Order: sequence, then structure tokens, then C-alpha cells
Amino acid sequence: MNDAINLVDLIKDFGNDESCRRYIEALRWRKGIICPRCEKPATAIANRSQYDCDACHYQFSATSGTIFHDTHLPLTKWFLATYLLCESKKGMSACQIQRTLGISYKTAWYLCHRIRAAMLEVAPEKLDGTVEIDETYVAGKKRRWRAKGDVSVVIGIRQRNGDLRLIRAKDAKSKTVQEIIKANVGGHVEVILTDESAIYPYALDKMQKGLHKTINHTREYAHGDVHTNTVESAFSLLKRGIMGTWHKVSAKHLPAYLDEMCFRFNNRKNQFLFRDTLTRLILSPNLEYKDLTAKVQDAA
Ligand SMILES: [Zn+2]
Repeated sequence: MNDAINLVDLIKDFGNDESCRRYIEALRWRKGIICPRCEKPATAIANRSQYDCDACHYQFSATSGTIFHDTHLPLTKWFLATYLLCESKKGMSACQIQRTLGISYKTAWYLCHRIRAAMLEVAPEKLDGTVEIDETYVAGKKRRWRAKGDVSVVIGIRQRNGDLRLIRAKDAKSKTVQEIIKANVGGHVEVILTDESAIYPYALDKMQKGLHKTINHTREYAHGDVHTNTVESAFSLLKRGIMGTWHKVSAKHLPAYLDEMCFRFNNRKNQFLFRDTLTRLILSPNLEYKDLTAKVQDAA
């Protein structure tokens, strides 16, 4: 269970639903099978993939009460899709998952969104040390992409040799950016690097202003250690993902794609990413299809 996995191993080890089920059981109940209703120990029922609670006699399976329950999709396909989304650096589109797994587009789209939702960091740590901040613009789904409402602002914050945050902002005004910096940069920050954009002197607080260094991009890209190249390289990965993989991303779903990107990026050295993502899926609440497709009045 603690070995890094490649596609060949995945197909060999999880080629049928029974082996997937056993793995879910092992990840879900590391200290023995527990009843999901009363949390008391349970016993396996012979010749069935079910358990019987020793206390309340509720009968359940390894997938009961998880995102995998009640889906008509075989567990082998859930496992494959999770693996593919973890492994592909720039992400994988629903179209690609549809073709690779031989499922309908709607199923693939819903599947990708549920895996993506499990990748969401609920309470990410604040960034410290040397932090680069920059903003970029991402064209939305409509064809008239130059029209004002179709472009989303994305603020990127990257700790050198550390984590990345990509946050969709409702605009690029100082006040908006200030809120984002406040929520993502910690009190132990040592240096804050940005370009000479007029946003940042107003978006930083007094303490942060004292640590602020800027690079004039009209003159040079780096002045010694003063540059924003590492956050910019994350932006270029994001743009390649959006243009090359997803083609266009609606403003509504952009935050979910940004989280997916950050999750993969921040776990780039985690060789157990597949196992860890699967564990998150087991523990995460189901994302209803109707909630995903609900119209948003205001995309901001
Ligand atoms: Zn029970």
C-alpha cells in the first residue's frame, strides 16, 4: 500500500472491482473495520463483500457512504481516472478521459469534477519565506474573449522552493489583491517580490511593505535574486493546461481547475499522490451533479 505506483502496476493490481474494493477498505479502515453508523467494530460476512456491525447489525460495504457508492461506474474506472488526473502534469480533459476509459462525455465530465473537488485544500497553510506574487489574465469560454466580462484575473503566489497558490480574483484592484495576500501570506514572510505594477504598494500592509522588492520588467527579468520567474513559470503551466488540455474554462469552474493545478504542483515530489488522492476521495462528500451544473448569477 505504501509503494509508488505506475500505470502497469495499476492495471495489474487494480484490474477488477474486488481488488479496488479491498484497497478502499484498507485505506478507509486502517485500524480495522468500523461501522459507519455507530463507529463500533464490524465483522465481514462470509462470501459477500459486506460487513455486519457487531453492535447495531447495520450491514455495509467498503464503499457505503462514500463517493463511490451508487455510481454505476466500475471502481476500476474510478481508479484509472484518479491515476490519470494525478499523473498528467497539465491535467486531462473530460474528452480525453471519455476516450481513454470508454465512457460517455457526461460521465467523464462529472467524474473529473468529483476527483478535482477531492483535490481542494480546505485550509491551506499560509506562505512564508521568500514569496513571489504576480497576476495574470485568463480568457473565459465565450468567443468574444476580449469583452471585459470574459476575462478572469488570477493571482499567483509562490513560496520559493515551496507551495503555489492560484486564486481567481474578481478584479485586479489593490483592495481585492490585498484580501488575497492577507489570506495567503503568513507573518513569517521574509521577502515579497513583485513586478512594478501599481497594485502592490497599495495591496501590501505596513510590515509587508518593508519586505517588498520589485523588478522592472521593461528593463530586466531578474536582478540577482529579485525576480518573479518561479510564479511566472507556474502561470505558463496553467496557460498550457488551459489552452492545450481544457481548451477553454468557464469562469464558474476556473477556481476548481486552479485548485487542481496547485494540488498537483504542490505534490510534485509526493510519490504516493495516487494513494493520497484516493484517500481524499474516500473521505470527501459527494458532489452532486445538479450543484455542478447550476447556473451562477454572478461569476465573481
Ligand atoms: Zn453499527
